[in-house]
Amino acid sequence: MTTIGFIGLGTMGAPMATNLLKGGHDLIVFDLNPKSVAKLVGHGARAAVSIAEAAKSAEIVFTMLPDAPDVEAAATGDGGILENIRPGSVYVDMSTIDPATTRRIGALFKKKGVDMIDSPVGKTVDQAIAGTSTLMLGGEDAVITQVEPILRLMGQDLIRCGELGMGQAMKLVNNLLASVLITASSEALVAGRKAGLTLDTMISVLKTTMAWNNQLAIAMHARALKGDFEPGFMVKLAHKDCRLAIGMNQELGVSTPVGSATLEALAEAMARGLANKDVGAVLKLREDEAGVTVRLAQ
Ligand code: NAD
Repeated sequence: MTTIGFIGLGTMGAPMATNLLKGGHDLIVFDLNPKSVAKLVGHGARAAVSIAEAAKSAEIVFTMLPDAPDVEAAATGDGGILENIRPGSVYVDMSTIDPATTRRIGALFKKKGVDMIDSPVGKTVDQAIAGTSTLMLGGEDAVITQVEPILRLMGQDLIRCGELGMGQAMKLVNNLLASVLITASSEALVAGRKAGLTLDTMISVLKTTMAWNNQLAIAMHARALKGDFEPGFMVKLAHKDCRLAIGMNQELGVSTPVGSATLEALAEAMARGLANKDVGAVLKLREDEAGVTVRLAQ
C-alpha cells in the first residue's frame, strides 16, 4: 500500500482518485471544493485541509488541475507541494498544461531530490471512471517504471513520449487535432442537414470515406448527436488546450490556420454562455445559426 496525495477532484480527478482507492492505496485528498473532498472521503480517502497536508506524508503526489497557473501555484507556490513533499517522493502532474511550465516545475523539484513526471490523460470522463484512460508519459524511464503499477489503476494505454514535458507536448498535439475534428464535423453535419440530407444518409456515406473520425464515431455519437451537451470535456478546457497548443506551435515555428479558426469557434461558444458545457456544444452553435438540429433517431 502506497500513501498517495491527490489534489484536484473535478470531473476527471474524482474518478481517477477513486480508482486508486479501489487499488487498495492510502489516499489523502484536497480540492478547493469541500463537497468534492467529502465525496472521496465517502469512498475511503482521508481529507486534507490544504495542499501542504496532502503532500507532506505522501510517497507520490498527483495533481489534476485545470490550467498551467493552477498547477504552478499548487506545485511551487507558498504552502505548495514543493515546500512540503519529502525528498525521494515522486510528483506526477496529470493536468493538461504546456511543456515549458512542466519543465520549469520539474527543475525546481529536482533540486530538492524529488522526481517529477508528466502524465496528461487522453479520452474523457467515461474512460477515467473505467480506469481505461490513455496516459501520455514524460520523464525518466526509471521513475516512470517505479510509479507504473499505480498509473495502471487509472490508465490502460501507457505511452512513454520522452523526457519530462513530452507527455504534455503529445497531449497538446492530440487535443488541438481533436478540437479541430469536432468543430469541422459539426459544421459539416449542420450544412448537410440544412441542404436536406438526413443524418442517417450522411453517416452511411462518411463512414466509408476519409472524412470518418472518432469524434463522429464515438464522442458526438454518445453526446451531441443525442442533444446532450453536459460535460464530458468542457468548452473552456478545450479552449485552454487549443490556446496552449497554438502557443507551443508558435514557439516551434509551425503555423496554425485551422487551429486558430477552431480556437475562434470555441471562443464564440464561451461568449454564448456555453463555457461549462461539453465541447460538443460547437454543434449547437452552428445548429442555432442554421435553424436546424442534427440528431440520431432515439
Ligand atoms: P474540473 O474543472 O472538473 O476539475 C478541476 C478541479 O480542480 C476542481 O474540482 C477544482 O475545484 C480543483 N482546483 C482548482 N484549483 C485548485 C487548487 N489550487 N487546489 C485544489 N483544487 C483545485 O476539470 P477536469 O475536467 O477534471 O480537468 C482537469 C484537467 O484534466 C484539465 O487540465 C483538463 O484539461 C484535463 N483533462 C480533462 C478531460 C475531460 O474530459 N474533462 C480529459 C482529459 C484531460
